[in-house]
Amino acid sequence: MTETKLTWIEEELTALRESGLFTHLRIIDSPPGAWMTVDGKKVLNLCTNNYLGLANHPRLVQAAKDALDHYGVGPTAVRTIAGTLAVHRELERKIAEFKHVEDALCVQSGLIANQAAIPPLVGKEDVIFSDRLNHASIIDGARLSRAKIIVYEHCDPVDLETKVKKHLHNYRRGLVVSDGVFSMDGDIAPLDKLYAVAEKYGLLTMVDDAHGEGVLGHGGRGIVDHFGLHGKFDVEIGTFSKAFGVSGGMIAGKKVIVDYMRQKARPFLFSNAVTAADSAACLAAIEVLSESTELVDRLWQNTELFKDGMQQLGFDVGHSVTPITPVMLGDVKLAKEFSRKLFDEGVFAMALGFPTVPQGLARIRVMVSAALSTDDLDFGLEKFAQIGKELGVI
Ligand SMILES: *Cc1c(COP(=O)(O)O)cnc(C)c1O
Repeated sequence: MTETKLTWIEEELTALRESGLFTHLRIIDSPPGAWMTVDGKKVLNLCTNNYLGLANHPRLVQAAKDALDHYGVGPTAVRTIAGTLAVHRELERKIAEFKHVEDALCVQSGLIANQAAIPPLVGKEDVIFSDRLNHASIIDGARLSRAKIIVYEHCDPVDLETKVKKHLHNYRRGLVVSDGVFSMDGDIAPLDKLYAVAEKYGLLTMVDDAHGEGVLGHGGRGIVDHFGLHGKFDVEIGTFSKAFGVSGGMIAGKKVIVDYMRQKARPFLFSNAVTAADSAACLAAIEVLSESTELVDRLWQNTELFKDGMQQLGFDVGHSVTPITPVMLGDVKLAKEFSRKLFDEGVFAMALGFPTVPQGLARIRVMVSAALSTDDLDFGLEKFAQIGKELGVI
């Protein structure tokens, strides 16, 4: 009985393998710098979210070591019982200052931040207006809230307004939520226009800035800074796992909302606090970014070099306006073969297919980083050119 009960899973796995959608994990045994050791091979790293090279920055590593010595390894409680450390509060004050918001709450990850922040704001009597391409963690957070979810067309404030007019009056409250930077295409939400609609109809506003922090705005202060909308968005969701190079999430914004989250956000109440070492490393990341815009400037210089190079070679790199560079290939098997061949040539750039991106829009997503030298970028471009010709893509 036990065997037959599980055969459907075997069948599903076989179907994934046959369609080319089965994910194989590559194993990394080094820091995520410009070059890293993947499956025992030294390769150029073109696919981590280490935008600024902070993940193995000596100051962050030292800060984490000092915190380990001071606090030990684990916080051993949820924040609301006995898990709030001095370093947690210091980090919350510093990130709020950095982003020019009133206050912030740090949680375990960006994914968790969305699950934590949405349900306290809206419930069964309410409605959420959500961009069609929002990140999975926004979708999950929205579902957890049990509010009605109305999807508006991607980055389309006109469609948003049409749907708000049609539906809002049936509900108690409305929330509009969008990714800031869309992580698969690298385009950005028209935040000023979304805000205008929200203001007109009295909607709560939330933006997830996971790929904008450390990248957009002055010295990496994020998408709200990019648009000059300080103090306008009620909630800014963020992560320390990308440009900040560490791990952890945040709910930032108006003080009244952050105060409320401290009482209501379930992952904050029911899951162990972030470790002191992680929090101290995040603090060090904010210090590094507050002192100089050098890393962010280099990230954008590298982005321009790489994108120009790829376009000159004849690749379709989509319509990204950020360091995220999708190399559009369409067919998932082609994308996976391209990625495998790049790897054999010493370049680590992963292929992404359904369900991470829509069917038929498979790609290799290159993440440009400030950690790459000009020689590194040239090496990457040369290998893309070689494999692109070999596979008839260019
Ligand atoms: C990566 C990402 C997350 C998840 O962040 P983690 O800290 O890795 O959990 C959430 N939202 C968006 C938009 C993201 O791109």
